[in-house]
Amino acid sequence: MLIDTHSHIYSEEFDDDRNEVIAHAEEVGVKLILLPAIDNESYDRQEQLAASRPDLFRQMMGLHPTSVDNNYKSNLELVHEKLFSQPHKYVGVGEIGLDLYWDTTFKEQQCKVLEQQILWAESLDKPIVLHVRNAYQEVFELLRRHGSIHYRGIMHCFSGTPDDAQTAIEMGFLLGIGGVVTYKKSILPEIVRTVGLKHIVLETDSPYLAPMPYRGHRNESSYVTIVAQKIAEILNISPQEVAELTTANTKQLFGI
Ligand SMILES: [Zn+2]
Repeated sequence: MLIDTHSHIYSEEFDDDRNEVIAHAEEVGVKLILLPAIDNESYDRQEQLAASRPDLFRQMMGLHPTSVDNNYKSNLELVHEKLFSQPHKYVGVGEIGLDLYWDTTFKEQQCKVLEQQILWAESLDKPIVLHVRNAYQEVFELLRRHGSIHYRGIMHCFSGTPDDAQTAIEMGFLLGIGGVVTYKKSILPEIVRTVGLKHIVLETDSPYLAPMPYRGHRNESSYVTIVAQKIAEILNISPQEVAELTTANTKQLFGI
């Protein structure tokens, strides 16, 4: 059994063949697909898909950092309303975070939005799924400002240094490992070897970041098998062992 802990399969990229993509995933043993939220333009699509296959999908709710601009307040209110009116509907708060790669214009707003959502997750006792790009130090600093919070969650699509990985784990996070681990210049194999399976979950981030040999093409949940295979090679263990342990890590974190 495999779990894809991060897929945007509700997005338009899958409108033409979503059922086939789901079938592929189930054929290779993917039993659960977690759906991180982005913003109010896609919440409805996400919820409809999740409702169509409650056995396969689990939802998160949150406002993505790249969707934060000067008008973030109304979107954030919507997140609050959804999270607090039906908390059982969401397994976690995500994806939330800081992205200073594409644009730093709204850095201050992104920080506010992240901080607010972290506090909501804490009050609802839910794990958080963090999107961090070019901003590990800023995120660690922000998290440390709330030293009393006992963090748990995932650093999704982990792209930091080996030191960042260590810090994230010490703070209570698992590392989300996806297609990037198969890329030639990636330092993720080294990080995976150092941290070990105990701190890892599998993800695709589909439709983005497809593993080799599909790099540059649309990613899909069935490709978590490629990621599991690669991690098995790195650690010199069987793909079954990778599947079992990462599944156990995911289930424990989300209580699913
Ligand atoms: Zn994502």
